[in-house]
Amino acid sequence: MPSADFVNNSPDANPRPIDVRCPATGKLIGSVSVAEHETVLAVARQLRAAQPAWEAIGPTARGRHLLRFLDWMLDNEHRLIALAQSESGKSWADASMELVVAMEVIDYHAKHASEFLAERRVRPHGLTAATKKLRVRARPHQLVGVVTPWNGPIATQVMDAVGALAAGAAVLSKPSELTPLTWTECTRAWREEVGGPPILACVNGGADTGTAVVDVVDMVMFTGSTRTGRRVATRAAERLIPCSLELGGKDAMVVLGDADIDRATGAAVWGAMMNSGQVCISIERVYVEDSVYDQFVTKLVEKVSSLRQGMDAPGAFATDLGAMASAAQLQIVEQHVQDAVARGARVLVGGKRPDRTGLFFEPTILADVNHSMMCMREETFGPTLPVMRVTSETEAIRLVNDSQYGLSASVWSKDVQRAERVAAQIEAGTIDINNVLMSAFQLSVPMGGWKSSGLGSRFGGADSVLKYCRRQTVVSDRLRLPAEPHWYPARPRVGRMQARVMRLVHATDWRRRLGLKRVR
Ligand code: NAD
Repeated sequence: MPSADFVNNSPDANPRPIDVRCPATGKLIGSVSVAEHETVLAVARQLRAAQPAWEAIGPTARGRHLLRFLDWMLDNEHRLIALAQSESGKSWADASMELVVAMEVIDYHAKHASEFLAERRVRPHGLTAATKKLRVRARPHQLVGVVTPWNGPIATQVMDAVGALAAGAAVLSKPSELTPLTWTECTRAWREEVGGPPILACVNGGADTGTAVVDVVDMVMFTGSTRTGRRVATRAAERLIPCSLELGGKDAMVVLGDADIDRATGAAVWGAMMNSGQVCISIERVYVEDSVYDQFVTKLVEKVSSLRQGMDAPGAFATDLGAMASAAQLQIVEQHVQDAVARGARVLVGGKRPDRTGLFFEPTILADVNHSMMCMREETFGPTLPVMRVTSETEAIRLVNDSQYGLSASVWSKDVQRAERVAAQIEAGTIDINNVLMSAFQLSVPMGGWKSSGLGSRFGGADSVLKYCRRQTVVSDRLRLPAEPHWYPARPRVGRMQARVMRLVHATDWRRRLGLKRVR
């Protein structure tokens, strides 16, 4: 297990340790040191010094480095998943998904960045452009800050850092203080085993270190809560640097009367409980049409009751969901359930911490819920699923949109046209039809939140690389004239000629073009 990080290469005088404990067992599994402001500055300077060479080698060579990183992850697959599992308390199945996502993201960016970054020729328009050649190129921000939460110790870092690396930026990353070990190990290996240039570094710590990162970079990619996202955006605005924000969600599932209930309940359970509900795009509320509500709830209860909870042995795939990542998150889940019950909801399954060691909360189904309850309005980020009966699709759409969040949503109906019609009225960045969570992992289309769920988007084909770049326009001459016609001195003959040509080119009818009709 790593106990050293990048910071220890240029250590603070008195490094403060962060001890990392496994949420499922409480055991100490490693530690990293907090990077103070000066250290963050020093690391940023090193990254800036190395970035021009990284940009200069071009996307194909950068892709080769990224693919070596991918191979290193595969060679260390079991060890990395085990480390991610032990610092997050996940089931082995959930922890394994992290590497699947990481592989896809690295492979996609390594193989497509050249195409995305290709210089673009643009057709000239207008009088001043008549003799010009126009090109637009993408040049990376020199240093991108990547600040991430704890729910995906490998995947989230990779999702947010790799597009920037492929663009040619250097990346200063700060993983969550709750799960710093796996990414610290990945960035160590980037330098020491993969042989990557020193353009990727990891600093550790909490809010202060995150703030220090925002203060030294040229662009911020932040994933985390809406509350912190607002702070990051405010800080970035003060520094006039761009930021891209992937924030919280309260994703809804709409089950219409003609849905395939067996498939819909299977999806609802996985969509709500995967990673113990600690996924930004988790299904956090379900609206079911009256005619199938009872059938839906009966099947849902059956499926949730059979879930196996616990942190299984590495490689075992013996449990479905693991622990919560922190005691604070566990308290939020508990509070939402207690609030719902106090306001009249019924717990159909679970509803409490199990009688065992570790930060577990039982997979929970809540019925008879309404929008006065916290569990329907605020992000729970836990293994709970409130289900609400609705009388029509119109009522479902109104309730889905009655939220400050708009990350993703899912609509279920065998009549795809009907599902599409409902989907078109939902305020969310991505919509799955007859599926859950899938839309967020499609790298070639945007994944981004509306309303308080974000700013910009994470993926989206070329955008996933270009968002880390500044556009640079290059204007050159196709025809080299000794001087441009409008340069000094002002000449009446040139002025009159310019007015005539302007009229000829831009007027919308012949009378105007020929100057036969003057408009006051
Ligand atoms: P958080 O906002 O508390 O912390 C996220 C990161 O920001 C951590 O690394 C933290 O140390 C750092 N941080 C805290 N204060 C900061 C500040 N003032 N300036 C800079 N950095 C600061 O979030 P969390 O509790 O770690 O994660 C859970 C949240 O993340 C949930 O709301 C979830 O929905 C969200 N999330 C969103 C997505 C998405 O793609 N939309 C993905 C995963 C998680």
